[in-house]
Amino acid sequence: MTVEQSLPICIAGTWRLGGGERYATHYPATGEPVAWLNAASLDDVEAAVQGAHQAFVHSGWAQRKPHERAAVLYRIAALIREQAEELAQLQRQDNGKPISETRALVASAAGTFQFFAAACETLEETITPSRGDFVSMSVYEPMGVVAAITPWNSPIASEAQKVAPALAGGNAVVIKPAEITPLLALQLARLCEQAGLPKGLISVLPGKGSLLGDALTRHPLVKRVSFTGGTRTGKHIAHIAADKMMPVSLELGGKSPTIVLEDADLDHAVAGVLYGIFSSSGEACIAGSRLFVARSLYEPFMARLTAAAAQLRVGDPADEQTQMGPLISAGHRESVERYVALGLAEGGRLRLGGERLRGGLFEQGYFYPPTILEGLGNHQQVCQEEIFGPVLVALPFDTEEDLLEQANDSLYALAAGIWSRDYKRAWALGRRLQAGTVWINTYKQFSISTPFGGWRDSGLGREKGRLGILQYMEQKSLYWGMNPQPLAWAGVEAGQ
Ligand code: NDP
Repeated sequence: MTVEQSLPICIAGTWRLGGGERYATHYPATGEPVAWLNAASLDDVEAAVQGAHQAFVHSGWAQRKPHERAAVLYRIAALIREQAEELAQLQRQDNGKPISETRALVASAAGTFQFFAAACETLEETITPSRGDFVSMSVYEPMGVVAAITPWNSPIASEAQKVAPALAGGNAVVIKPAEITPLLALQLARLCEQAGLPKGLISVLPGKGSLLGDALTRHPLVKRVSFTGGTRTGKHIAHIAADKMMPVSLELGGKSPTIVLEDADLDHAVAGVLYGIFSSSGEACIAGSRLFVARSLYEPFMARLTAAAAQLRVGDPADEQTQMGPLISAGHRESVERYVALGLAEGGRLRLGGERLRGGLFEQGYFYPPTILEGLGNHQQVCQEEIFGPVLVALPFDTEEDLLEQANDSLYALAAGIWSRDYKRAWALGRRLQAGTVWINTYKQFSISTPFGGWRDSGLGREKGRLGILQYMEQKSLYWGMNPQPLAWAGVEAGQ
């Protein structure tokens, strides 16, 4: 197939052209088209949801024994691993991340399916302590059709985090990937089918979220939405969900503090702060975008950090050595540039970067260099709003109370990092930081076995973790009468 031919999309077990507008996706490193598609239409949303509902009711997936569902998920993990290199290269083209990073995301997606397969076949339902002449149990049931709405920054890994537990829980899934990065979700759907998932249990609807994501969320047959993306969209989804009394999980934005105490191991702190903000070109919800450094250490630490940041290899995502690829789009780079200009207008100073890179590939793609701003206050806009790019704001602090007040002063509360040799102090500080995840002497490390999610404007609900599967199941209490006599209230005696 040539690039110009539209790719079919997956609607309720059928691969066909979407009914919406034709559009191209682009490689952010060159701006060249990668694939053409016809977006899904509202009719396609209806067909996908109805098909998913039919598959949920009639395919027998929900009734399969957990170990049987798990067997399919293990096969999906194996197929992802078999095609890991093709998937990693596709993801590189889809969103411009360096190949080393897309390989890690593909490996993480395979691990996610494996993990939820294991969680599925080992999930225990409980017999609760009886308080009467009955056996009482707590069990879990599938929900039905689940919508997975995903962003552009980590396709396949984001999709796996929603699709694997949803399928493990016995549900059908309709994925609405980001309009500009639909290719991995489509490929994942093919692998699910190859692994033996009954037809119709997975659909992929590329296209505009304001149209398709909104319609999916409102659809009466959609029983749960799992969303990752911006806070504004998350709140919109939460409003719709409230009207439907529908559970949602919302993984939203962040403005996470990383804190360097006076006694930090500086080699570790420099490496961790750099990785925390500049890996993925800062396009990460958990990016450590606010740096707080003990004032006594501020100048020497910033000198080391700036020198190391200046050495980061920005460039061709296909090059194994590249650490930072381009930003996702021209429009997003302009947004990052506006934030840097705002920071300067607010009285900030550039310690590094802040100017587009020139020459060669930099003229074609949407590259932006590692940028460090300082001289600002935590209350200022660039310190409060998520930039979602390679822009670090650095702030000195004096006392621990002053630090905590600033670090916790944010609408967001997704993650935080602490660098210190004093474990007792780091522990105490970690407990007082308001964030869904706190990393101590490390940053941006993830384990599928550990719950993840945010407080406040960073989201609702948790993904991952062995019990993450329960997010996609309804709890039910069962009482099983054991009394040989009829219930006493009616005065009926046995054998009468
Ligand atoms: P969005 O929240 O707009 O997009 C996330 C997903 O939601 C996409 O699939 C999008 O579709 C879809 N969507 C958009 N509008 C609706 C709607 N009304 N109803 C249902 N679904 C919808 O994020 P953006 O990609 O526009 O990024 C905006 C900002 O959000 C970023 O700059 C960043 O600050 C933050 N963000 C956070 C992420 C995280 O990991 N927490 C990931 C990505 C972004 P479509 O593709 O059409 O936009």
